[in-house]
Amino acid sequence: DGAIFQAKRRGYGQTVAAVGASTVRSGSDIRDALARGEFVLHYQPVVDLTTGTVDKAEALVRWVQPGGRTVPPDEFIHLAEQTGAMLELGDWVVATACRTAATWPTTVDGRPVAVSVNASGTELQDPSYAGRVLRHVADAGLTPDRLMIELVESNYSLSSRSVRENLMSLTDAGVRLAIDDFGTGYSSLSRLDQLRVDILKIDRSFVRALTGPDQPMPVVTAILAMADALRIEVVAEGIETAEQADWLRSRGCTHGQGYFYSRPVPELGPAELALVGS
Ligand code: C2E
Ligand code: CA
Ligand code: CA
Ligand code: CA
Repeated sequence: DGAIFQAKRRGYGQTVAAVGASTVRSGSDIRDALARGEFVLHYQPVVDLTTGTVDKAEALVRWVQPGGRTVPPDEFIHLAEQTGAMLELGDWVVATACRTAATWPTTVDGRPVAVSVNASGTELQDPSYAGRVLRHVADAGLTPDRLMIELVESNYSLSSRSVRENLMSLTDAGVRLAIDDFGTGYSSLSRLDQLRVDILKIDRSFVRALTGPDQPMPVVTAILAMADALRIEVVAEGIETAEQADWLRSRGCTHGQGYFYSRPVPELGPAELALVGS
């Protein structure tokens, strides 16, 4: 009896340890992984829905653990934020994305080809953020208009002085701003007045609901009309079908991103850059 109990306990303990080994627990896990070079960026093309050309790509971080498991960002970003490792991770993301973008064509259809990076609340609060970002842009030899920063509304507050100063320094230098997951936050419209926003990214939840060519979708229609009036570009996120792409294009949505065009890929080669969706 005792032996079986012991064995079971040992087995249970090993299971827990095995799970623990591939689970993120602390900021030092993330710092160690950064030092070991375990993070990689994948890039998802953003497509001009009218011409089918790619004029931007979003950098999305992944953690390739020694066992070979690729951990998606939703499983470690919040922990990086809580443990203070986000500033280092985010700094690596910006530096790496800038260096990669420097290898891409400079312009497509006369417009700068940009890399888009997600900014966390912690980074936006950090007084040294804008300065570090601009240094990475310069070190990579990019012009600032080839970097775009994506902001999720719920992640930051414009009542914070450092957030405002960071965003002002970045836009003053020519870095572009996108509002991510647009339509899911609370104060979208007042922020459009306060920030120099170049792009609205319509949240995937709206696009997922698009299943037929004649669907009314009043909220999406209103977002497109508003963006048009404000001369802000719109990127529809999470396009998975030709029907969704057609619906959006026919209502004046200029850009799209999603598995229908390309999943995020480790390298944006000629094939991804030359996507012709039309
Ligand atoms: P997000 O910024 O909204 O990024 C879009 C997510 O949707 C990505 O997931 C992308 O792979 C996924 N996606 C793209 N097209 C489709 C589609 O057609 N269908 C479906 N179902 N999904 C699609 P991913 O890469 O797992 O990233 C999840 C979130 O993690 C991102 O959401 C972003 O908020 C965050 N994240 C990723 N990289 C970074 C980073 O470097 N820094 C920060 N702070 N957050 C990041
Ligand atoms: Ca994003
Ligand atoms: Ca998004
Ligand atoms: Ca999201």
